[in-house]
This record gives sequence, structure tokens and C-alpha cells, in this order.
Amino acid sequence: MNLRITFRFLLKAIYGKAEALATVTSPGRRALFAYKTHRMLAIPPMVSIEVTNACNADCIMCPRKKMKRPVKKMEFSLFRKIIDECGAIGVRKILPYSYGESLLLPDLERYLMYIHQKARQSKIILHTNGSLLTEQKAKAIFRSNVHSLFITIDGNSKATYERIRRNLVFEEVKNNVLNFIKMRNGLRRSRPYVNIGMIVMSENRHEVSAFLKFWKQVADHVYAGGYSTRAGGVKGKESGDRPKRRPCFRLWNEFVICNNGDVALCCNDWDCTMKMGNVGKESLRAIWAGGKFQRIRQIHIKGDSYKIPLCRKCNPDQWDAVPIWWDKIWDFRARKP
Ligand code: SF4
Repeated sequence: MNLRITFRFLLKAIYGKAEALATVTSPGRRALFAYKTHRMLAIPPMVSIEVTNACNADCIMCPRKKMKRPVKKMEFSLFRKIIDECGAIGVRKILPYSYGESLLLPDLERYLMYIHQKARQSKIILHTNGSLLTEQKAKAIFRSNVHSLFITIDGNSKATYERIRRNLVFEEVKNNVLNFIKMRNGLRRSRPYVNIGMIVMSENRHEVSAFLKFWKQVADHVYAGGYSTRAGGVKGKESGDRPKRRPCFRLWNEFVICNNGDVALCCNDWDCTMKMGNVGKESLRAIWAGGKFQRIRQIHIKGDSYKIPLCRKCNPDQWDAVPIWWDKIWDFRARKP
């Protein structure tokens, strides 16, 4: 079989329509794309599970308060079904959180332990605002073998932090995080890997360097990340209506499950308005490889993402971090007319 036919065969197997890749000009890039996405399309690399959408904070960059969805925790029976499948198919990363503070769950350890026991190949990645990271919660996190902990602290002073992360107390969060790191180090553990982040916006931009300087001394990784309007959910300038931009990596990388089992388009579909399926009724794999996701991926590949209402209000180029290979595949000229 000649090389060209092989490419077409591969792409057809993955997408159903090889023509969809017309925007990728070089055969080498096409092959790289087919190769790299082959496993990603069979098994979602990262599964985010909204164990609760309740939160004790009211952050200015979060649209959670506008949700029309009921505020509740995910039933453990549904969570168990999801984790059983993640374990069976070999999902690499499980994030037991989405729009909510997971540490609010009194029985969070039960959820974490279930991942640890049934999906042993998966890394557990937990995000928290840090306000409830008590000694007791820390021990539960250690016992359930959480791989990485992400804590976002959006300021280096009390005034800035509390202006952004409303309802939380700067000193409490800072002390909780420092105690957590001390406890972990005292146990001579290297995990969870502690990542401290700041979402950079006009309210805290002046504190970025002081923030980085302080946390670099104690945390394993420190970052200052881009601000997303959550597809128009919160204030800010962001527009994805520019034609011919590169496809959004998130459509190949993340599978976001809301507290009732509905699958959202991505992490920016915060009210789950674009339901891709429901994991209570279908398998993860069937939804991930199913027609709804595939149609949207093809629209993105063609450079027409602005035709999707949610994506039109979102510009991941402004805030998202994507692997280098993804950047290399998509012709930059096609993205910036
Ligand atoms: S462009 Fe934005 S809204 Fe569309 S899939 Fe990507 S992150 Fe989600």
C-alpha cells in the first residue's frame, strides 16, 4: 500500500472523513496527528469528574453562581460506575473535581480511595482552593495516594487575594498549604506533587513576581496562568470568532463529567449546555468516540470552530497550554489570517 493511501486509511478510520484534515498541509504533520491522536481518541487521556458543584468561595473569575444546574454531590453509585470503566480501559489521569470545591465532601476519602483501588494505573489529580485543607483532609489525601495537588492562590497579599477569592481568608489558605507541605515532607513522601498557581488578571498582575518568588521556595511547581472568561461566563475580552484558527486541544484531551452524569463539551461548558451524552446510560468510550464529539472535532479541524456558539466566545490561544507537538501540527498561518 503506498504511503498516501495508508494516511487516508488511517485518517478515515479515525474520523470517517479524511477530507476533514484538508487544513493540515504537510503529509508529515498529518501522519503525526493520526499517530498522536490514535490512543487519545480510543481512551480519553484525562477524565474530570464533578464530585460536587458546591463551593465555599465566590471567586470573581468563576461563573458557578450563574449555573442553572442543581447544586449537589455526585451519587457514589454513579461515581463507582465511572471509575470502574476508567480502571477497565486504562484512563491515565482522573481529576475528581470540576466546578466546585471537592474538599467540601465529608466522605471525599471514600471517593479518592475508590479511584486508588479500582483504577490503580490512573494518576489522581486534585484541585482545591486550599481553604479546607486541614490536617485531617491532608491525611486522607496521603492515604488515597493522590499524585498531584493543584492549589490556586490568586494573590500575594491579603487585600488582593480576598478581593478575588471572595469568602476565603488569605492567612488560613496560606497556612493550610504550608502545613500540608510540611506534613508531606515530614512523612518523607514526594507525592502529592504540590502545584501552586495564580490566574493572572488586572486585579493581581502587580503581584505576580512576588507570588512566584515566595512559592518557588516551598512548592514543587509554581505557575502564573492565563485568564479564561469561561466562554463568556465571566467578564473579560475573549473572542473565538476568528476563522481558521487551530482546533482546540481540549476536544482530544479531556472528558468532563458533571455531577448528574451528563458529559460537557469541555471544562468551559460550565453549565453543561452541550450535552455529549450521559455516563449513567452509556459508556465513556462510546460517548468519547461517538458522533457528537466527532462532529465537533471535525468542525474544529476544518477551522470552523467559530460556528459553535460556545467556542465562538472562547479563545484557548489566550489562556490554554498545549503540548508542543500540537502547535507544530497546525499551520500557524492558517490560524492567523
Ligand atoms: S474552544 Fe473553548 S469552548 Fe470550545 S472546546 Fe475549546 S475550551 Fe471548550
